[in-house]
Amino acid sequence: MTIYRKLLIRLKRKYPQYSIRVCRRHLKDNLYGSTTHIAKNQFTIIINSKLDENDACHTLTHEFAHVAAWDEFVIHNQEHGPIWGIEHSRCYQVFEELITELNTQ
Ligand SMILES: [Zn+2]
Repeated sequence: MTIYRKLLIRLKRKYPQYSIRVCRRHLKDNLYGSTTHIAKNQFTIIINSKLDENDACHTLTHEFAHVAAWDEFVIHNQEHGPIWGIEHSRCYQVFEELITELNTQ
């Protein structure tokens, strides 16, 4: 299983309150990923299919933080505000732990 796939499973496990559909698809070159709110606690994340695995993993942590900080975006119109920052560090930690585990196996 790829690191990307493992990370995706762990991030979904980290946020069981959300239903998140994730797919890799062609996006404009300057766009790494996007998050769309579908319904209450329901989101779609698209990761640019052109990204290599490392960039795709980084983008995945970024987009999962958008899911977890969606209220901040709606209420304060802040895309990368303080709540997003906290959630991003949580997501990034999941990635860090995964990498550490794989490196010590
Ligand atoms: Zn963003």
